[in-house]
Amino acid sequence: MTEGWIAIAGLGPGDEMLVTPQVTAALDAASDIVGYIPYVARIAPRAGLTLHPSDNRVELDRAAHALDMAAAGKRVVVVSSGDPGVFAMAAALFEALETGPAHWRNLDIQVLPGITAMLAASARAGAPLGHDFCAINLSDNLKPWPLIEKRLRLAAEADFAMAFYNPRSKARPEGLARVLDVLREACGADRPILFARAVSTPQEELRIVSLGEARADMADMRTMVIVGSSLTRIIDRPTRPILYTPRSAV
Ligand code: SAH
Repeated sequence: MTEGWIAIAGLGPGDEMLVTPQVTAALDAASDIVGYIPYVARIAPRAGLTLHPSDNRVELDRAAHALDMAAAGKRVVVVSSGDPGVFAMAAALFEALETGPAHWRNLDIQVLPGITAMLAASARAGAPLGHDFCAINLSDNLKPWPLIEKRLRLAAEADFAMAFYNPRSKARPEGLARVLDVLREACGADRPILFARAVSTPQEELRIVSLGEARADMADMRTMVIVGSSLTRIIDRPTRPILYTPRSAV
């Protein structure tokens, strides 16, 4: 039996050109692919490769399954979109490892980075994350709303640009409206906000508005939302405007 291994890999935001050669090499060497259904659907089937798509919200079961297969000698790639360390499977896998059987700790485990949605969106719009910024997951599955609101207010007070993942879902249609209310109160109505949907795919849509104009229905679960700091500005051009934050705060 060959030695098993596990790689937790980021597939980037969507465009195949944005998958790193390191991730492509791991996928080519894999015997088994594990991940959320739409991410596994991005992997081309081939002889000798078994695909194990699973539903959302079963991250720990998925991680345990991947670790068990690697322990049994399989070459397993766990796929995430974007980067696997950003609100994704790498942390879930280590949660399973920490509490799982001791023999899992002997496994060859590697995290292979990918281009996270925040950086892909930022690049398409210009450079809104050019100065200090923070990233916040707006999903309240794993944390209570008061904690999200506290982090928003403190990030606004610190004058960070903010990148929001998971801005909206069918299960929480009112969450983003509350976030926008808090931001208008903390940052004012003129602050620019970017809604970047399905970046690097054929469905890509970018919209830059002011916080005063922003509405929750401008985002869905495929949208990255970036709010500027007090320094973030727009360069108007005949084609698309550029949204950027200068490097200096003085
Ligand atoms: N690990 C992923 C993030 C998973 S959370 C990463 O590093 O990108 C899922 C959220 O990421 C989505 O709700 C959306 O906010 C964002 N996202 C993922 N792909 C995106 C894309 N192509 N365009 C815009 N946002 C995207």
